Amino acid sequence: MKTQKRCDLHVHTNYSYDNSHKNTMEKNVLSAIQKGIDVLCFTEHIECCSVNTFEGYPHAERKREFDRLVSLYSDQIKLLLGFEMGSPHRHPNELAFLRSLEPDMIIGSIHHPTDYHNINYRMSQADYEKLYDQEVRRLVECGGFDVLGHADMLKKYHTNFRTDEAFLTETLRICVQNGIVPELNTSSMRQTDVMANSTESMISTRMARVYASLGGKYVTISSDSHSYKTLGSHFDETYSNIADVLSLCYFEKGKLVELN
Ligand SMILES: [Zn+2]
Ligand SMILES: [Zn+2]
Repeated sequence: MKTQKRCDLHVHTNYSYDNSHKNTMEKNVLSAIQKGIDVLCFTEHIECCSVNTFEGYPHAERKREFDRLVSLYSDQIKLLLGFEMGSPHRHPNELAFLRSLEPDMIIGSIHHPTDYHNINYRMSQADYEKLYDQEVRRLVECGGFDVLGHADMLKKYHTNFRTDEAFLTETLRICVQNGIVPELNTSSMRQTDVMANSTESMISTRMARVYASLGGKYVTISSDSHSYKTLGSHFDETYSNIADVLSLCYFEKGKLVELN
């Protein structure tokens, strides 16, 4: 169950709309090798809502660059190509298109829940948190992707946020049922990304243990880096909290591979 290897399976580069053009794939590869990361997966943002990065996305250019880096560095690191798709349950045709490109892994995440509810007034924080949780629930009920991204992301942004653990437990039970692997996203643990409202990963290692008690076997650990400088952040301390009950995995062409 324990592995000595390190992975980072949720990484953004200059092919994501919210990144600096200086954060190239190659800089990420070199940084990952230097940090002793064994498996690295690029997961650029694909959104189809008011933020639309699906139309005109440079898939061919990105794949060419990825293939070039594989040919240069594959003896030093395993490189994978994936996507982080926002609300895939609301965009089945676009999700099918991304699958047709045969990515290694698709992360399904919720980023813009109000876009899908015609909400034109300012919601209370409590209502927004409820809406977010409900969207994550719909996402895992529909499935069609590999990894559930930052299931309780609002802990990163909302002061006084408390994960609804009973609701999340049921969401994780559906993940087990539908073969979806939750990630432990460490971006909430970095001072560099946000005004840190949390010291926990998303989901927390405590909730990862609940997922294990429900029959879950695998998780991914990821930094959700938007800069090569933060690759692999908090990997060791996060892994040490779950290594006795869960195994790490990655996906290759959509097939789960245990990291060992
Ligand atoms: Zn995300
Ligand atoms: Zn991300």
